[in-house]
Amino acid sequence: MDCVFCKIISGEFSSYKIYEDNDIFVFLDINPMEPGHTLIIPKEHTLDLITINNDILIKILNSAKDMGKLLMEKMNADGFTLIQNNGISQEVKHYHLHVIPKYKKKRKMDIEEVYKILTN
Ligand code: 5GP
Ligand code: ZN
Repeated sequence: MDCVFCKIISGEFSSYKIYEDNDIFVFLDINPMEPGHTLIIPKEHTLDLITINNDILIKILNSAKDMGKLLMEKMNADGFTLIQNNGISQEVKHYHLHVIPKYKKKRKMDIEEVYKILTN
């Protein structure tokens, strides 16, 4: 299947991986809205909120808790926002939950630096 996120999971395309287990894969968004912008995806290809398996959805939400904590602790984020697009607002047709850190003061950092902070 010609899916960019499936190719990231398989390793065909590289990514800044933060975490993976049997069911989910967590990595940095290549075009971040804020430094530390992360995507959480199921390993099994599925389109969106309507089609995703409920048990996997709970795993993804639990991972969002962990990711939010990590962003606040390691990136000193002042908060975080979850976004999940469906239908015409969804660009990549493989379910993904955005975890977007929020900062009181605008921050600019390159993705390599963010990756080092989050994985150390
Ligand atoms: P959507 O609008 O579908 O919710 O958002 C798709 C997100 O995937 C965007 O934030 C975009 O930057 C991100 N994205 C698209 N292609 C790639 C890629 O090849 N690698 C990574 N890490 N993120 C991607
Ligand atoms: Zn896919």
